[in-house]
Amino acid sequence: MTLGNSPAPLMEGDCGVTHVTINGDRCQGHGRCALIAPHLFDVDDSGLGVVLVDPVASTDLADVEEAILTCPENAIAVAD
Ligand code: SF4
Repeated sequence: MTLGNSPAPLMEGDCGVTHVTINGDRCQGHGRCALIAPHLFDVDDSGLGVVLVDPVASTDLADVEEAILTCPENAIAVAD
């Protein structure tokens, strides 16, 4: 299962592992992900978003979902 900027709530994958990615072609470096969840996202030296924790813990899925919904470029995705 792969979700992008979807209003559907994130669910932990069947295997219990959820991976988070940032599409570097879409990311424009707004940094909103790092503001929303600084324990999960940061920006690199060029200002683009990076994932700090992968896979993410089930307790962090709500923060990942908020970052996905806040990213104006639809650059953040999750997959099992
Ligand atoms: S909010 Fe989206 S566009 Fe902005 S840095 Fe994060 S991933 Fe990139």
